[in-house]
Amino acid sequence: VSDLYLALIHYPIINKEGRVVTTSVTNFDLHDLARTGRTFGVKTVFIVTPNEKQRDMVHYIHGYWREGYGATYNPDRSEAFQILEAVTDLKETCLTIKNRSGNDPYLIATSARVSPEALSFAEVRRRLTVSEQPILLCFGTGHGLAPEFITSCDGLLEPISGAGEFNHLPVRSAVAIILDRLVGRL
Ligand code: SAM
Repeated sequence: VSDLYLALIHYPIINKEGRVVTTSVTNFDLHDLARTGRTFGVKTVFIVTPNEKQRDMVHYIHGYWREGYGATYNPDRSEAFQILEAVTDLKETCLTIKNRSGNDPYLIATSARVSPEALSFAEVRRRLTVSEQPILLCFGTGHGLAPEFITSCDGLLEPISGAGEFNHLPVRSAVAIILDRLVGRL
């Protein structure tokens, strides 16, 4: 069985003009991804940003809910935050995973776009049960992961398709749906 990790990427991200940018960390991404990740057995949710002040903000929020008043006020939130961590880039994320799980992770990008080479949910679900290699699922912010980031990954997961043409899920919903499909009990 593989260890499953998740990364919320803030660089390199496409903005609404199609340029590559660094996005800002959003408070409710931290809360919702920590809870969803913890529920589905994700080892660590990495908040990936090259901006030191943004990482400091994550540390502050993390500390508040782990050690501050928040830890006694809301213990299950504190427990969820246990799996959350701020890191600088993908390299640091992969090194941390290698130290913890003993192997380089298999990197899987996510996107709402359809791609002919995409891995199916069933393939990744099976991989999680038969492989020893950890898996890192990468999610975008802004208008999504930059194409060069996606091509640098080992694979791209097939998109969640909705009921019609509109397909703009918030990352928090995409994470919940994908984790349910990959590890949720059927
Ligand atoms: N500003 C938005 C927010 O508040 O969530 C961020 C949108 S960001 C583009 C959404 C991310 O969720 C994508 O980069 C991708 O990782 C994932 N995502 C969104 N829709 C998806 C879909 N239909 N299938 C798979 N992943 C999806």
